[in-house]
Amino acid sequence: MSMQTSEREQTLRENLAGRNYLTPPAGPKTIAEPGKDLPIAGEFDVAVFGGGPAGVCAAVAAARMGAKVALIERNACFGGNATAAAVNVWHSLYGMDGKTQVIGGLAEECVRRMQRRGAAENRLEDGETGAWTIDTEDAKLMFDDLVIESGVRILLHTTLAGVICEGRKIKAVAIEGKSGRQALIAQTYIDCTGDADLLRRAGAATDFGDDNNTCQPPTLTFTLQGIAPKSERFHIEKISAELIGTRNDYLGYDSVAPMWEKPPPGRPNQSVVSAVRVPGIDASDSRSLTRAEIEGRYQMRWAIEKFKGYKGWENIQLCDISQNIGVRESHRIIADYTLDRESILSGKEYPDCVAQGTWPIDIHNPDGPGTRLEFLDGTTITRLADNSREKGRWDGKSIDDPTRDTLCWQVPYRALIAKDFDNALAAGRCIGADYQAAGAIRVMITAMQLGEAAGIGAGLAMETNDIRRISIPKLLEQLRSQGGKQRPKQASSEEEAMST
Ligand SMILES: Cc1cc2nc3c(=O)[nH]c(=O)nc-3n(C[C@H](O)[C@H](O)[C@H](O)COP(=O)(O)OP(=O)(O)OC[C@H]3O[C@@H](n4cnc5c(N)ncnc54)[C@H](O)[C@@H]3O)c2cc1C
Repeated sequence: MSMQTSEREQTLRENLAGRNYLTPPAGPKTIAEPGKDLPIAGEFDVAVFGGGPAGVCAAVAAARMGAKVALIERNACFGGNATAAAVNVWHSLYGMDGKTQVIGGLAEECVRRMQRRGAAENRLEDGETGAWTIDTEDAKLMFDDLVIESGVRILLHTTLAGVICEGRKIKAVAIEGKSGRQALIAQTYIDCTGDADLLRRAGAATDFGDDNNTCQPPTLTFTLQGIAPKSERFHIEKISAELIGTRNDYLGYDSVAPMWEKPPPGRPNQSVVSAVRVPGIDASDSRSLTRAEIEGRYQMRWAIEKFKGYKGWENIQLCDISQNIGVRESHRIIADYTLDRESILSGKEYPDCVAQGTWPIDIHNPDGPGTRLEFLDGTTITRLADNSREKGRWDGKSIDDPTRDTLCWQVPYRALIAKDFDNALAAGRCIGADYQAAGAIRVMITAMQLGEAAGIGAGLAMETNDIRRISIPKLLEQLRSQGGKQRPKQASSEEEAMST
């Protein structure tokens, strides 16, 4: 490597590491912002912040219960990672037995809406029990339809700017957009920002990342065209195995990203590619998130140049870079109940079960290459640093022993209730879960179920003015009436006393 290149690398690395971002001046410098009365943008039964898969479902579910609902989203479209980060795989609606449908409701409604126009395809050609590949552009339209049809009052390009609390209640939320700063007043507030922005601004403590305060790395996806047909191109997993651990010329350190690609339905000449991983990011920190976006795009440029050296990839062209780097995790709320690894892997059942799933505990190494998956059937797959896969068991059994027959895991309503508040819920990837459990629940079809449940909970709280004092049987009945497949544990008399 020439001296010139390494100097360029060095400069890039230093700039990316800090020099290029807004940096606060040394010392505790502040300036007082004069207090002012905020114009009230509206008064609502339910206000939802963050219009990703969880937020849209929360808003729509509450609106379908007759609530007056506001939905605030900082992007130009709804869908969060499912649109703006072009994550185009939604997992199976079926249990581990491959026969019992365990997920329905709004999650299934979203899939069916896209399937009807050819924008969602099941991975199994002769069935529907596999994962779904979706067209993330169509998903933008599908989410638009859902919110518009349900009468939710929406604002795009608008971010949460502050929270006004009174005791255990959120009283109002400041929002900021092109029209300046305004306030929203609601009876119940739902945090679907993915990073618990609402509850953190309200002063609530949160859990962050793992025991070392590091998070799974974010990944930027991008769309390529001009890839040769599957049978004529070098498989991306093999490219990945060759590139992982090689020096990234743009940034001067080793690539750690496992690579995959998935053609969107109806666009076989294109593929959404994941080949970027930016370790050491705190997605709730503006500087860190900015670094993730820029460094992600540098990594992408490097990967595309490398791809061009492989058979079938010579003529690729970049046709789209996802609007946002995809964030896997940051803060999780402290809830009335915290899901943990044991409750996920044992398939623990709850009388107030509002979501089910089968996705394994899926942890992308926060610091380097490698991913570990722990499945409900007792098996594990570890993707090692060289991208090879090692199979094992987490249950102490030998690899050839019979597997466990847990159908799915469950999430109770209590994991959505913010511990220190009487009128605030969270839904999506920031609910009450430990690091391991969050690795399983952080997927789209779970986020949508959690959103739907939070929306119904908030709808029921219109009567009681307290999100804890709602009827759990009514919540479950409403989920079922919308096609939900939740199978709550038969409640004991003590558990029944929880619900009013
Ligand atoms: C690279 C990658 C691959 C993945 N692969 C899969 C997969 O194959 N299958 C799967 O099911 N899941 C996958 N996931 C996980 C899944 O995409 C997310 O966990 C899921 O999107 C979570 O939904 P959510 O609604 O909780 O959060 P998000 O999708 O993150 O949505 C949060 C929304 O809130 C908005 N927002 C945030 N802060 C504010 C604010 N302050 N004010 C206003 N709006 C705000 C955001 O713009 C966004 O729209 C993947 C994730 C990544 C990053």
